[in-house]
Amino acid sequence: MAAPEIRHMKWWGWGDEDVSFSDADKPKLWPYLQRELGLPDDIRTPPVSFEEIELPEAKTNEPFTNALKVALGEDQLAADKNTRLVHAAGKAFRDLFRLRRGQVDFAPDLVVFPANEDDVVAIVKAAHEHNAVLIPFGGGSNIAGCLEPQDREGRFIVSLDMCRMCRVLEVNQRALTASIQPGVYGPHMEEQLEEHGVTLGHFPDSFMHSTLGGWVATRSAGMQSDKYGKIEDMVIGLRMVTPSGTLVTRTVPKASNGIDVRHLCIGSEGILGVITEVTVQVHRLPEKKVFEGWIFPDFESGVQAIHDCVRLGCLPVITRLNDPKKTALSAAFKKTQTGFKEKIGNIVKWYLGNIKKIDFEKCCMMITACEGDYDTFHMQRRESAHLFRKRGGVCLGESPGKSFQEAKFDFPHVRDYLMDRGVMGDVSETSVTWDKLLPFYEQTLAAIEKAIEQTGSKPWAGCHISHNYHTGASLYFTFGCLQCEGRELEQYLYIKRAAEDAFMAGGGTLSHHHAVGTEHLPWVEADISKTGVKAVVALKDGLDPRSVMNPGKIIPGAEPLREWGLTEEAIARFNKAD
Ligand code: FAD
Repeated sequence: MAAPEIRHMKWWGWGDEDVSFSDADKPKLWPYLQRELGLPDDIRTPPVSFEEIELPEAKTNEPFTNALKVALGEDQLAADKNTRLVHAAGKAFRDLFRLRRGQVDFAPDLVVFPANEDDVVAIVKAAHEHNAVLIPFGGGSNIAGCLEPQDREGRFIVSLDMCRMCRVLEVNQRALTASIQPGVYGPHMEEQLEEHGVTLGHFPDSFMHSTLGGWVATRSAGMQSDKYGKIEDMVIGLRMVTPSGTLVTRTVPKASNGIDVRHLCIGSEGILGVITEVTVQVHRLPEKKVFEGWIFPDFESGVQAIHDCVRLGCLPVITRLNDPKKTALSAAFKKTQTGFKEKIGNIVKWYLGNIKKIDFEKCCMMITACEGDYDTFHMQRRESAHLFRKRGGVCLGESPGKSFQEAKFDFPHVRDYLMDRGVMGDVSETSVTWDKLLPFYEQTLAAIEKAIEQTGSKPWAGCHISHNYHTGASLYFTFGCLQCEGRELEQYLYIKRAAEDAFMAGGGTLSHHHAVGTEHLPWVEADISKTGVKAVVALKDGLDPRSVMNPGKIIPGAEPLREWGLTEEAIARFNKAD
């Protein structure tokens, strides 16, 4: 199979340049948003044009670039405006807000495209010898500020785009493992695996535009994690090139060989080295798979139903439970329905309201997927359905499941639609144990809503659960509001901080799967303890003594709020508001 042409995402938003989100077939969406967020009719805040963007002047580091010119081909280096811009940020709200305003304070001075591990070794060696900063780049989809090309010492910055390393190298049918290069994008990787009749089973919402290396480096989770695990459960072995040499782990199902260095690389966000090969466990493609929709009377009954399935070992591969706010939002996304479909929709609504006594203000939608061979599929579907019904769940059949499947990779475009209309929309996610989950949910929602109100805007905040464990689950909060003109970033950071503070106060973690980057630096010490940070620093110093690998991420400095991008005045205003 020929390698696909690499198309980087649009610099100002999500997805390919020629793909955008339209509300033309979703008549309820804009009225819903206007009502919920108190939006004026005519608000439009489009991004500046490419021509209006001025990049910071590229720095030079001749000894480094000369070393690269010897080791690599000319077509592996680029420093044109578009390439530098595309590699200047990820897709965090803060990244996009600044880019759309034409505020590009940092951009890599050079972008390099290694084709194999030898190239990576040469680049890392040159960076170490000539004091250039290297930032590994996968799909650029992270939302934690993991790619910010800023160096406190003002050094030459190189983005290391892994997209040419995109092959599935080997599939072992007996062991069910696959060795894969890290720069492969989700769809291209699954296409290659499908030729061998297997799947990795990792489908984050960003699947279309993110890479295996990025998933491993951010410790990502996909929507089918309840069956296949998160990326850290899938990685059996890997290779990582560091300034101190190449770290290689064996392909074995389990080892008791001291501290697990494989896990030191997973989640390392490019600060230790460049992952050049990953061996993962793969699975035979399922014979049967069905998506369905369920409606629960309220969030608590949906949570209890999931918990019952966890306890009895019959959890579907996907259980995505929306709270009332997210249920209402997904209803607003519904496409126009006419004729027979419209009639059926009305009958279902009447049945739910009048026979099942569902209160549409409180009810919660859950999307499920069951899969497996004939027996596993039927057993999982039958047993989970039984438990769902016991908690008041009503099955809506396959139609909502089909809509979810069609829309699941389109949904990420919505943020651009909102940003075009003066709206801040973002997410913060965490995980918490079952005993704390419901009060934690209430307290966090209240904290986010209060913070938005304090900024003078009407709050919208909702939550969904989509990754479940023996001991607890993840909670994924989505929030939005009309932006305060002139203080948009400060407003955003204020709200984000309220969410993260609530996570810490309630016994959660700073992120379940979105990584630390720069966005979550202020909460690292509270999350992993002072000594935990010391351990990470020691690891960084040991493997990367000159700190050339993606500095400024994961390890907090002395003033994390300032590193987060807040000015003195904003910090003072923050403290006053508290
Ligand atoms: P990048 O963003 O390019 O890089 C992320 C980090 O990994 C950086 O620190 C980079 O230096 C490092 N890195 C990349 N490649 C390598 C390598 N080969 N070696 C060493 N370090 C490397 N995340 C989820 O987990 N689940 C989701 O469902 C999900 N949905 C999302 C939906 C949207 C709309 C958006 C915008 C993001 C979503 N994310 C999700 C976040 C994001 O997609 C993940 O963090 C993803 O893992 C990043 O992969 P990437 O290839 O884009 O990496």
